[in-house]
Parts: sequence; C-alpha cells; structure tokens
Amino acid sequence: MSRRLVLEYLSTKGDATRSELVAAMGMSFSAISTLVIQLRDEGLVEEVPTSADSGMARTARRGRRPGLLRLKEQSTPILGIDIGHAVVRVAIAESPSAILDEAVQEIDTDQSAERTMQLVVELSRQLVARNSLALEEIAACGVGVPSPVDSVTGVIDPQTIVHEWAGLSPGKEFSQALGIPAFIDNDANLGALAEATLGAGVGCRTQVFVKIGFGIGAGLIFGGSLYSGANGAAGELGHVQIRSDGVLCRCGARGCLETVASAEHLVASLEAISERSLSLADVVAMVASGDRAATRVFVDAGRAVGRSLTSICTLLNPEAVIVGGDMGGATGLLAAQIQDVLTDNSLPSSVHNLRVVPAAFGPRAGLVGALINARLRGRPGPMRPVQPLA
Ligand SMILES: [Zn+2]
Repeated sequence: MSRRLVLEYLSTKGDATRSELVAAMGMSFSAISTLVIQLRDEGLVEEVPTSADSGMARTARRGRRPGLLRLKEQSTPILGIDIGHAVVRVAIAESPSAILDEAVQEIDTDQSAERTMQLVVELSRQLVARNSLALEEIAACGVGVPSPVDSVTGVIDPQTIVHEWAGLSPGKEFSQALGIPAFIDNDANLGALAEATLGAGVGCRTQVFVKIGFGIGAGLIFGGSLYSGANGAAGELGHVQIRSDGVLCRCGARGCLETVASAEHLVASLEAISERSLSLADVVAMVASGDRAATRVFVDAGRAVGRSLTSICTLLNPEAVIVGGDMGGATGLLAAQIQDVLTDNSLPSSVHNLRVVPAAFGPRAGLVGALINARLRGRPGPMRPVQPLA
C-alpha cells in the first residue's frame, strides 16, 4: 500500500524530497527511506540533485543535501485524449500538470465512433510530430469517452445510450493504432480524478464531480478512491429522474435531469424565445451580460442539478461537490444554486461542511484526468485510490 502511494504521489505531483513524502504519507522518515532504497534498487525511482536555492534542498543534518526523488519514467512524455459529444481534445505532456502542447477540434455529433477514433489518431500523430517527437517516445496514453466503461475489461457498456460506442474497446483500438499502451475511462470519472488529484478537490476524501454539458455525468470519490460501480456505470447523474411527468429522455425514461439541465435544453429554451439560433457560448455570454431569461434558465438548471444531488449528499456526506463541464463563465452561478438547494434540502449534519465549487480545470478536467491515467497506467477494479492521503 505505502509503496503504491509513494509511486502515485511522484507520478501525479512530480518530484519530491523524502521529507515531503514523510509529510504527505504520515509515515516515519526511516520507513520512507527504506521504501525509497527499494524503489531505487528496482529501477523505478531515481535521485536527482535539488537546485541550490531551493528551501527544500537545505537540511540540518551535517550539511548533507537530500536529492529530489523522481519516477524514472517521469521524463517520458504521455498523451491524453478526451472525446466529448462535440469536441475532442488531445494533449502531450511531461506530467499531468505540465502540458507541452494541446489540440482541440470540433466533431460532427452524428459521426460514427470509428470516424472519431480515426480523427483522434490523426490529431495525436500531428501533435507528436509538431513537438519533434516520435510515437515510440511516448510512454502511454489515457483516453476519456462520454459513456460507461467496464473498469476491468475496458469495454464500453453494450447497453450504453451512446449507441455508436456500444460494445467497442477504444483502448485496444488506440493502442494498436498508436503503438503505445492506452488506458480508457469514462470522462466524468477522469474529471473527478483530475480535480481530486490536482484541482479543486485536493485534500477531500469524499467528493462528487459533476460534469454539465451536452450530457450530465458524475465522478464519485469515496474515502479517497474513485468508485465506478459494478460494471463501470456509477455516476450517471444525468438520468436521475427529476420530474415523473417530464419529457422523454434519450435513455427512454421520462423527466431525467438531462432533459431539464443539459446544454442542449438550455440552448433550446432560449432559442424558443429568440429570433435566432444560438450556441452554448452565446447563452453563456447572455448570462454574463445579465440577460434575464438566460439567467432564469441557468438558475433553474442549477437547482435541478442540486435536487438530483440531495440524496447522494445525505447518504454519502461529501466534503465537496465540484462543478465542471462546458458552462464556462456560468459555472459559478450553477455552483451557487446547487449549494443553495443542497443546504435547504439535505440533512444538515450531512452538508454543513459541504462546499460546492467550480472545477479548477474547467472543461479540461477530463483531459488532465486522461493524462493522470496515462501516467498511472490505469487502475483495474471498481475502487482505486486517487491520491496519497495524509
Ligand atoms: Zn435519461
């Protein structure tokens, strides 16, 4: 356990001194030193000199200067891929917190999964080439998809409502096409991983990441571990019923959260009273300019998301709800409404310490999570630690 935590700390937070590991792991200095010797002998960790002016570099012990510990593979770049409903993002990075270059491209929302995968492979090749690298020099790639993924087999649930991806194994396909190991997960799970490891949820053992965009999904972190359910389908918040007499949802049920709070619903509501067709960016800008109708639909959406979270918060007593997705400048308004509804409707003892905050990585949380998964080389099984716990 402590061995894995040390490796995960170095892979997500970057280089660290022994003292920093002692503070983060709550272990004794001698236990950490023994572990470091083991990891060094196995060739997993190397010691690099600290810069002379670093405060961490100084030690009182007879002037001996401890080195910085670094994962050996840390110097090998990684690739992150986030496949969304209408946009794909690809990044090449030295570490999840040090992105070297990034490409974003809109995609036709009706195109086949095969076509999208071809496009992503092409984008990845271009990105690697324009950074004067070869694919053989990339350690691994992480991939996020907008659908439940079986966390053991990497197969997209055949029952998924994202029909074009049903039953596919994109991890295997990307691995073959790019010639590097590929690790796939659901996009909201990856967003949760990013925020818990490096973003707005650092230090919280139990948190809920909510991604609000054309779809709505959640990533659940319980007791410091990402929970993906029996077959990878945990966190499908968008299909929690909000109104029993509501409109039909793409999943076949009635009155799901997505039918009242997704980007598609917000845009359509405002188009219905407007003379023109609108984009999501248009309606977010309308909120920023104080437009009354736009503010109204975002307030309603935020309150609906809040209601969908009341049971989760009463049952699981999270420390934080992190609001991510594609709502840009309107995310703060959504977060405030969610906080308000949760405070009013959940059990006080479950939510009195709860904070609802916008995601630190905004719409890029899934991409950063994909990079973390690439560096950690995925994690089989439904529960997996996301960060060392002090
Ligand atoms: Zn639904």
